Amino acid sequence: MLHRLSDDAKSSSAGEISASVLSNFYDLEGLSAQNLLKKAIEEMFNGSIAMVSSFGAESVVLLHMISKIDKSLPVLFLDTQFLFQETLDYQRTVAYRLGLTNVQIITPDAKAVSERDPNGNLHIDDQSSCCTLRKTEPLDNALKGYDAWITGRKRHQADTRNLLQPLEQGDDGRFKLNPLAEWNHAELRQYIEMLNLPPHPLVAKGFASIGCEPCTTAVAEGEDPRAGRWRNSEKTECGIHTDTAYGGQI
Ligand code: SF4
Repeated sequence: MLHRLSDDAKSSSAGEISASVLSNFYDLEGLSAQNLLKKAIEEMFNGSIAMVSSFGAESVVLLHMISKIDKSLPVLFLDTQFLFQETLDYQRTVAYRLGLTNVQIITPDAKAVSERDPNGNLHIDDQSSCCTLRKTEPLDNALKGYDAWITGRKRHQADTRNLLQPLEQGDDGRFKLNPLAEWNHAELRQYIEMLNLPPHPLVAKGFASIGCEPCTTAVAEGEDPRAGRWRNSEKTECGIHTDTAYGGQI
């Protein structure tokens, strides 16, 4: 970890810097999502923070907020090579519409794929290993050099996310900013409609949370938005957000 936190924060928090120390020091309690983002990008982690976006069902809200603060902020987009074509097209549309100039497409290591998933069917035999190969490992590599990253997770998405805090620290010591933790589905839809932001084309077809094509289905009325991810399996997360503080479930 680089710990390029602002000098003020470092000198004011003797010993290890934790999420609660940072939250208190920067007085984050009650900040709006936009102000939390601004503080994190311009003060707390200036030059050492990236957004990680799936360009999924509700991603455009956070991407729009970021575009109003810094259009050149690194936005890491994980292309597992199993995404819907609609998502790949949508990524380009949104980046263009919002003027984002630093979207970085992160792909799995080609050598690792040829060794561990030569036939492209690991997602059928062992989803956890597939997510490790195509999501967790590439993202871990891409985040090297950053002290913090911004995620689009929300409490309303699933029971496993109802403890989500606006600022957390992962097992690797890196901070995670979740500016939309407290937003509900209606607020997100309202934001998208009010600003006439482009919707992901699969939302109209019943997809409330959009991941890889082989592992995502539409959801029925009243289901958890993430119920369509890895349906009929115990799996609820890809491994990117499995920190021990939440029993490995966030
Ligand atoms: S979501 Fe499915 S296809 Fe995508 S990386 Fe995980 S197991 Fe593989």
